[in-house]
Amino acid sequence: MESADLLLNDVNLIVISIDENGSINYVSTATEKIIGYKPKSLLGEQWWKKTFLYEEEGELFKHKVCKIISKEIEISNKPYDRKLQCKDGSVKWIEWRDSLSGNNTFVSVGVDITEWKMTEEIKTQSDAILNSITSMVFVSEKNGNIIYANPAVQEILGYSVEEILGDKWWELTYDNRDEALKVKEATYNYVYNYVKGFLDIFKRKIKTKNGDYKWIEWQISKGINDTYISIGTDITSRIASEIELKKAKETAEKSLKVKNDFLANMSHEIRTPLNAVIGFTDLLLESELKSDQRNHLETMRNSGEILLSLINNVLDLSKLESDKLEIEDIEFNLHKNLFEVVNLMKLKAEEKGITLDLVIEENLPMQVIGDPTRLGQIMLNLIGNAVKFTNEGSVVVRVKVVKKTAKISNIHIEIKDTGIGIVSNKINTVFGVFTQAKSDTSRIYGGTGLGLAIVKKLVKLLKGEIQVESKFGVGSVFTLILPLKKGGEMAKEEELQISTSTSQKLGLNILLVEDNKTNQLLAKTRLERWDCNVDIANNGIEGVKKIQKKLYDIVLMDIQMPVMDGYEATKIIKNDISKKAAAIPIIAMTAYTSKNDIKRALDVGMNDYIFKPFKTEELYALLKKYGKPDKEQSINEVEELTIKPKIEQVRSNIDLKFLREETLNETSILKLLIELFLKDLDEFIGIVDLELVNKNWSELYKATHKIKPSIAMFGISKFEPIIHVLMNIFREEKNLEDVEGLIIKSKVIIANVKNELLTELKLLNDE
Ligand code: ADP
Repeated sequence: MESADLLLNDVNLIVISIDENGSINYVSTATEKIIGYKPKSLLGEQWWKKTFLYEEEGELFKHKVCKIISKEIEISNKPYDRKLQCKDGSVKWIEWRDSLSGNNTFVSVGVDITEWKMTEEIKTQSDAILNSITSMVFVSEKNGNIIYANPAVQEILGYSVEEILGDKWWELTYDNRDEALKVKEATYNYVYNYVKGFLDIFKRKIKTKNGDYKWIEWQISKGINDTYISIGTDITSRIASEIELKKAKETAEKSLKVKNDFLANMSHEIRTPLNAVIGFTDLLLESELKSDQRNHLETMRNSGEILLSLINNVLDLSKLESDKLEIEDIEFNLHKNLFEVVNLMKLKAEEKGITLDLVIEENLPMQVIGDPTRLGQIMLNLIGNAVKFTNEGSVVVRVKVVKKTAKISNIHIEIKDTGIGIVSNKINTVFGVFTQAKSDTSRIYGGTGLGLAIVKKLVKLLKGEIQVESKFGVGSVFTLILPLKKGGEMAKEEELQISTSTSQKLGLNILLVEDNKTNQLLAKTRLERWDCNVDIANNGIEGVKKIQKKLYDIVLMDIQMPVMDGYEATKIIKNDISKKAAAIPIIAMTAYTSKNDIKRALDVGMNDYIFKPFKTEELYALLKKYGKPDKEQSINEVEELTIKPKIEQVRSNIDLKFLREETLNETSILKLLIELFLKDLDEFIGIVDLELVNKNWSELYKATHKIKPSIAMFGISKFEPIIHVLMNIFREEKNLEDVEGLIIKSKVIIANVKNELLTELKLLNDE
């Protein structure tokens, strides 16, 4: 007994013997380790009272033991599980085996199976889960063979679990063996090599047993022992509704496009004759007139302008409502922009006998990046309203910066008037479409109630805010906050040119390519007043023919024309006639205000553009900019000018001082350098056009990198900051949305540079 006892002490077993009275007379030492009771504390005790979970269960057990000892019933040798309560109150699962020893002692041997029981329980639970969930769960080996699948596979795909085990899954659910292999390989790479490829393994269309297809979304993760687990959810109906939604969206977009195209075309159709009405009225107003005739014509002109602005407003609103309005991001002079708008309204204010002042606070930056046209439009509307609704007193426009970060300045603009004000219950409606604060507004003040609706939408598009405060009979304050990016100090000289007066004679040879007869006549009359010689071509082909015969100083080219449009004609002039013809500046005339049209025009080689109906000053500024400066001088100034100042005049984009010094003014070398650079510029444009389409940023980076030193050498200071920014964008592939705008800018500069270089070459040849 002693050696057996020693042995039992080492073995992790509960051994208990009970005498015929039901008292414990032996407890193994290991029992304490398992249930916490010291063997001694149990001796003489009633076992069932101490460790049974429920009293009734204990009583039953006691009853059975007594009957076994008194041989009334037979003992069973089969093991059985029963829970037991430990000293600390916790519960353990014990597997018991009972026996009867010779001296009528009942012996129970118990093994702790708690841990095993728990895993069993979890397994039962997970089995229940796997059997009941609606997603498919697979366990697969490294090679993709499925070793486990839950019954959902039958529910979703119709295959029984057995049917898809092993490699059969890949054969059955993919039509195409190649696709199956690719998915298998991509899954392997994802699970074991942590590589995400191009193939979408998380959403795939697979074949069901009845031949239909279903979309399954997969979650894939590593399992144990080199397996992986895939959980697949049926998303067929979700995909179907997504497709429906997309279709509905496309249809909606299509009809919106039809509406927009219609509006764009209509506005074009209306604007063209209107252009003629306003233009001819202008011309008539410049002639000798009786006072009542002048009055009638002025009314006509005003009505024309109102109609034009109404058309523009309707078009803008429709573009804004369909999110189609393009916002520019270009550098401009904010001070000048504000001055111009205020100046435009000055006359109106003076007529009404009220003052209109612009107060620019000191901290307002000069150069900013944003959309100058839209800002102008917003300001014109707000100042226009302030002047319109003020009959005495003043309108003050105050502009300052309220918050500055490294890149953005928040511009605070306040337009305050001492006008009629807005009644408080109408103040919230003034930004609505076709709303006016009072029903008689239109009759007394004119207007349609569209202006502020457009302003509000534009402000939102520019990521700004607008508010209004007003007191009826006292005045209104419109407050605008607009974030604008900071700009450098560029392109000053161009801006200066615009403000020149339009009274000088230009004396240019101009080719006007335009199909509309009234526009032809209008432009011709206007241009002849500036002492220009105007030849007219009715379409692109006629234009090309005329250029083959005569070298003009400038071509004004309509874009939309029958037979051959402006794009085609420009391509031919710039590439196929002669070097000299290619150097003639071509100005696009367009009634469309789309960025794409402009981009396309510049892409085919046009040098600049002007919108129809054009403003006299704008046309004048363009002609002055691109017309031959030496000619202009010979008309306006004394003849004895030397060649030198003429050369300086030509260059507003290039500065050859450095090169002249470097080449010791050697004409032949200078010529060669210019010719090479012209080729480089063409190559640069070629690469840019090609690689932009391919989105090949590294090639674009290389191209900008290559051209950069020459840009400095030829003193193209306007282009230097742009090419620098572009280079950074291409290298870091960040801010790619800025590329389009910068490229358009670059192309304008390059076109100008090329012109100037060609003129320079011509001068060098003459030397
Ligand atoms: P419109 O000026 O063409 O009527 P808007 O949309 O520009 O349309 O303005 C809507 C309405 O808001 C105006 O009709 C006018 O009643 C009111 N409103 C706008 N600006 C002012 C202002 N500065 N003072 C008084 N009322 C104004």
